[in-house]
Amino acid sequence: MRSRLADARRVVVKIGSSTLVSPEGEVRRAWLGGLAADIAALKARGAEVVAVSSGAIALGRRKLKLPKGTLKLEEAQAAAAVGQIALAQAWTEALGTNGTTAAQILLTLDDTEERRRYLNARATIGALLTLGTVPVINENDTVATAEIRFGDNDRLAARVAAMVGADCLVLLSDIDGLYTDNPVLNESARFLPEIAEVTPEIEAMAGQPGSDMGSGGMITKILAAKIATAAGCHMAIALGQIDNPLVRLAEGGRATWILARSNPAAARKRWILGALKPAGTLTIDAGAETALRSGKSLLPAGVRGVDGAFARGDAVVVRSLGGLEIARGLVAYEADEARRIMGRRSSEIETVLGYAGRAAMIHRDDLVVV
Ligand code: GLU
Repeated sequence: MRSRLADARRVVVKIGSSTLVSPEGEVRRAWLGGLAADIAALKARGAEVVAVSSGAIALGRRKLKLPKGTLKLEEAQAAAAVGQIALAQAWTEALGTNGTTAAQILLTLDDTEERRRYLNARATIGALLTLGTVPVINENDTVATAEIRFGDNDRLAARVAAMVGADCLVLLSDIDGLYTDNPVLNESARFLPEIAEVTPEIEAMAGQPGSDMGSGGMITKILAAKIATAAGCHMAIALGQIDNPLVRLAEGGRATWILARSNPAAARKRWILGALKPAGTLTIDAGAETALRSGKSLLPAGVRGVDGAFARGDAVVVRSLGGLEIARGLVAYEADEARRIMGRRSSEIETVLGYAGRAAMIHRDDLVVV
């Protein structure tokens, strides 16, 4: 029985601290090697893989000989600063042994919420995937403060999955899935292999965090599931600490699957069409209209008019010369820049603006033809 992971095109896999780091504060290298081999196997069949890896604080606190128990914020940040280097090195080695290049990305909450930074992060991750690397993402713990931190990488992983339009998110954790009650305390707790929708009952079942090493728990996984499934991404909660956890999961191994509410493209379209108020209008010529209708990006050359005061990343309406609404999308230039480069070839952008911007005024991934 193959699982949804077997056919996924873009996969985000999140690895929890207690899965990656031993109680002694060492990276479980043999295990990580197996996971890296799994990632290489997914890539070999054409999938793209992003890893969201915890473990910086767990690794750093040992190196710094910090006491057990809860750390003060600045201690946790210091531990993360030390541990992140070791974490990146472990990933570089493990993926490198399997013929893959690791790329480190440290994100803060703002990077996934503020549109301009969101677009930047997404473009970088997209480029790294196109180049065949495996982005390894963690929260930028050293600058995050208590108020703005994700608090757990489950949610970060879900935000990343939504951001890159992943169709599958796997949370590798210290529990094999979701139960109707805490299975340690209640023998009659039932395992849930598949959840079609995160209902209030499901949320109530998730209870309170159980592990003491990572900062997540079942409830953060459920919150992650809400973010991921709304973005059209299936999510699995599976036991991490077994050999080759991804290959096993792809082959139908034990996990709780929480199903996507639609596909990523549809979810993204809904988001562009519905959630964002248009901040301006681009008027385009007939050639650009034909290009858009055949699924291409909107290039500056085809833009004839720019109205409104919008920032980069804002939603704009795209109209024909006759005034008909053709599409909506997230624009890659602010209004003044858009005015300066409209009608120009993409190769002229650098001369006009003084910096090399993106080739498209609206990239096709950010465009919905109505
Ligand atoms: N970012 C933290 C770390 O790498 C982990 C957060 C979490 O446990 O979810 O140590």
